[in-house]
Amino acid sequence: MRPLLATVDLSAIRHNHALVRARAAGQPSFAVVKANAYGHGVREVVCALEEADGFAVACLEEAGEVRGLNARARILVLQGCLSADEYPLAAQLDLDVVVQSAEQAEALLATRLRQPLRVWLKLDSGMHRLGFAAAELRRWHARLSGAAQVGELNLISHFACADLPGHPLTAQQIGAFRSLDDVPFAQRSLANSAAILALPEARLGWLRPGIMLYGASPFADGAAAALGVRPAMSLSGALIAVREVAAGDSVGYGAGWVAPRPTRIGTLSCGYADGYPRSAPPGTPLLIDGQRVPLVGRVSMDMLTVDLSAVPQARVGTPVELWGAGLPVDEVAAACGTIGYELLSQLAARVPRRHR
Ligand code: PLP
Repeated sequence: MRPLLATVDLSAIRHNHALVRARAAGQPSFAVVKANAYGHGVREVVCALEEADGFAVACLEEAGEVRGLNARARILVLQGCLSADEYPLAAQLDLDVVVQSAEQAEALLATRLRQPLRVWLKLDSGMHRLGFAAAELRRWHARLSGAAQVGELNLISHFACADLPGHPLTAQQIGAFRSLDDVPFAQRSLANSAAILALPEARLGWLRPGIMLYGASPFADGAAAALGVRPAMSLSGALIAVREVAAGDSVGYGAGWVAPRPTRIGTLSCGYADGYPRSAPPGTPLLIDGQRVPLVGRVSMDMLTVDLSAVPQARVGTPVELWGAGLPVDEVAAACGTIGYELLSQLAARVPRRHR
């Protein structure tokens, strides 16, 4: 087997879920498991969180998979892109669905269902991506209340900038959400990980923790360890080749990186087809024997190269951590100009996962 493995520590995910519960003051939560549980393996994560109140996913296909794993929990389809012909299946699977546009609401009202759906009306509180303005949402609340297709009628919205502490849009969004306090919704939901961790005033009803369950930080400049969450995934490999290059030799495609001095180069079997970003610049850290070593040369489809100057003891077979407990995914992501969410969720299907 290629030496590349994602080890997923399910006890870390349970620990992080318990942290949500501790902050929740009795409020329920949807554990967000879309995108294969942010790359961690939806099957194993849903089974590890069998006591969860609910799960949230992006689409009907994901919801069906989760329902197959957990017959009891509530399952919220977040994106609100169900078409008319998908509502009967959503009802059959006993899902919670987001309704975010007039077209969708009309389609729901035009559908015959054997059992009513729990509906979450989406407020566009400031993200301007999905949802109704407040006045329009009030009208839809009135129209959908009591409709045969609608069981529980709930309110949901999503933050645009909760990852940026103190951003003025966050307070505006909370204000817009609270402006509907007088509307008799059965349930409400607003808080994602950043809000659960840092915005007690936004913990209104059902919480929706995603990234914090997996032990990465929702904050643009945040260190996950300081938040008390434990990283769940460790992506590790081993050196498959080691060579000396002379000063002036280039390494990798495009010959874009040139050794400034004689350098030992290690090659690792992980590339952009595994989900490691091709855009990772020289200097992106990897971990060998507890030492950070810099990526050099361009990431190829199946391999990448590192400068071994700081670890003269490294040999073929020496283990390398690409991210994990010793090297936060957020640090690697920042070096690559992205966020931990993207690295985790883009981990390719061909990378074997081992759950423990
Ligand atoms: N709620 C909605 C609507 C989302 O789209 C997401 C994730 O993108 C979440 C909650 C979870 O967010 P986070 O992973 O930042 O906790």
